[in-house]
Amino acid sequence: MEKEYCISEKVIIQIEERLSSYAYETGGILGVKNGMIDIFIFDEGIPIEDKNEYIPNITILNETLKKWKKERIGFVGLVHSHISTTSLSFADISFARKILFVNELDWIFMPIYVLACQSLIWFMVTKQEVYKLLIKGGFIMGKEKVVTLPEGKCCGYCCGDCIYMDLYSKNKYDEAYCGKYGKYYPPSSSASSCSYFSEK
Ligand SMILES: [Zn+2]
Repeated sequence: MEKEYCISEKVIIQIEERLSSYAYETGGILGVKNGMIDIFIFDEGIPIEDKNEYIPNITILNETLKKWKKERIGFVGLVHSHISTTSLSFADISFARKILFVNELDWIFMPIYVLACQSLIWFMVTKQEVYKLLIKGGFIMGKEKVVTLPEGKCCGYCCGDCIYMDLYSKNKYDEAYCGKYGKYYPPSSSASSCSYFSEK
């Protein structure tokens, strides 16, 4: 999918120095030339009340991107800082995907600099996935899919495990028919308070 890029040590030091000396939620863009990610342009963002947000100053950054095009520098990512969160937020991921969509890109780098642990954590966002990257000596050594758990629960014994529930008889809400009560219930409902529960 992505070309094999190298990240220069110089640019990593620049990002770390710049973002560690500023308040959190600042950022910048990353540029690549001849296969080497060697350019970082710092962006303080648009000053806002909520210091929990970074809003890139696109007026300035888009000027830079125009200049980059002439200089044959490619845009490969957006970096920003967090005070302590070591993962991308929901808003970070959806903004990254907006960048992909608007520019018809397949992926971008989305590193975050975490002030609490003073480390730069590299992520790659694609249209479907988020990957955490392992960078060693300027090379991408590994790529790990970021897994997130959806809301849910585990259940010791549920209606769906009971002999009285007919899992083949469902209504439009995906609830199944309980022969004891003559009603429809979600099969994942807890049966712990039901005195009729009989395991299949
Ligand atoms: Zn963020």
